Amino acid sequence: MTASRVLVLNSGSSSVKYQLLDMADRTRLAVGLVERIGEQTSRLVHTPLTGGGARREQTGPIADHGAALKAVAAELAADGLGLDSPELAAVGHRVVHGGTRFTRPTVIDDEVLAEVQKLVPLAPLHNPANVTGIQVARSLRPDIPQVAVFDTAFHATMPEYAARYAIDTEIADRLSIRRYGFHGTSHAYVSRATAALLGKAPGEVNVIVLHLGNGASASAVRAGVCVDTSMGLTPLEGLVMGTRSGDLDPAVIFHLARVGGLSVDEIDDLLNKRSGLLGLCGDNDMREVLRRAGEGDQAARTAFETYVHRLKKYIGAYAAVLGRVDAVAFTAGVGENAAAVREAAVSGLEELGLAVDAGLNSVRADEPRLISPEYARVAVAVVPTDEELEIATQAFELVTH
Ligand code: ADP
Repeated sequence: MTASRVLVLNSGSSSVKYQLLDMADRTRLAVGLVERIGEQTSRLVHTPLTGGGARREQTGPIADHGAALKAVAAELAADGLGLDSPELAAVGHRVVHGGTRFTRPTVIDDEVLAEVQKLVPLAPLHNPANVTGIQVARSLRPDIPQVAVFDTAFHATMPEYAARYAIDTEIADRLSIRRYGFHGTSHAYVSRATAALLGKAPGEVNVIVLHLGNGASASAVRAGVCVDTSMGLTPLEGLVMGTRSGDLDPAVIFHLARVGGLSVDEIDDLLNKRSGLLGLCGDNDMREVLRRAGEGDQAARTAFETYVHRLKKYIGAYAAVLGRVDAVAFTAGVGENAAAVREAAVSGLEELGLAVDAGLNSVRADEPRLISPEYARVAVAVVPTDEELEIATQAFELVTH
C-alpha cells in the first residue's frame, strides 16, 4: 500500500481550515474548521465524508493552534482517519507570501521555515499563522514531508515590467517592494480547469481569471503562464473587494494622514477592513448588496456599480495585455454565485467578443460551465475554484516524484 492521503491546512490568525484528501482517487475524506482559537468560545466543526458519518460540532476553549490541531487529529481518529496512519503521505500548507524566493511548492525544513518567517513583514496578518500551523503539524508528524504551497507562486512568471512599481529601483529592491500577486493557487487551478472545459491544453489558451470572493483578484494567463495580476505587494491592490479599497491614488494616503490626521495603522485598518463594498454601503456581503440594490437602495447601487466598473476595467486591461482572449472565467463566492455581477461585468464588451447568455448565466451548478452564447468569440465560464485540491495535488506530486 502506498501512502496517498494528504492533509491540507490553511492556518489563519485565529482559525484553521482543513481537508483530508485521498489522492489515489482525488476524493475528500473529511473537511472542517476550527475558529475563534484562543477565545472561550472556540468552535470545531468536523464533517467526515466517508463511512456515512455526520457533521460534528464542539464549542469550548481551544487555547492555541497546537490544541486546535490535536482536536482535529482526535476527530479524524474517531473516523478511522488518524494522522498517525501510514497512509498519510504529506501535509500541504497554504502559505500566503513566498516573496521572490518561493516560486514552487517546497518541502519545509528548518531553513525554509526561517525564510518564510523572514517574509512576515510582507504579510504580517498571514505568514505568522502559516508558520505556526507548520510548526504544529511538524511536531505531530515529524516523519512525513510538510509542503508549503504559496499564494504568490503562480504569479512569479509575471514579466519584470508587470511586477515593477515605477518607483526608485534601489529603494524598491532594498525593501522588496514589487508586485507579487495572491490567490495564485486558485488562479492556477481555474485557468487550467477553464482550458479543460474548452477541451484544450492549458498551453493552448489565454484566459482572464476573475477570483471574486471576500478578497478579489484578476489575472491574465497566457498559455498557462501568468503574465499579470491585480493584487500587488499586498492583497490590497486591484479590484474593489468586500472590505478592501483596491486601487486608489497613493496620494489618498498622504491626504488621510495630513488632512485627516489618521496614523499609518489607522489608514491600514481603513483601507483593508473598512473600505470596498463595506465602506461604500455598509455591507461587505455581495448577497446583501444585491438585495438592497434590488430594493432601490442608492448606496448599495453605487457600491455595486463601483465594483462592476473596476472589474470591467480589468477585463479590458487584460484583454489588451493578452492580445487574444479565449476565455474569461468567474470563480469564488461572488464569481460562482452572483449572476448579476457576471452579467454586468461583461455587458457592453461585445466589441471585445464578450457576451453572456441570460438563460445559461442564471443556471446554478457546482460544475464548470459556459455562460456565453454560441456565437460569442470569447468563452465566458463559471469555474468553481478548489484551492484545497490544488494544494493537495501540488504537495502530493512533489513528494511522489
Ligand atoms: P473567501 O474569499 O473568504 O474564500 P468566498 O470565495 O467563499 O470567500 O466568497 C465569499 C463571498 O461570496 C461572500 O462574502 C459573499 O459576498 C459572496 N457570495 C456567496 N454566495 C453568494 C451569492 N449567492 N450571491 C452573491 N454573493 C455571494
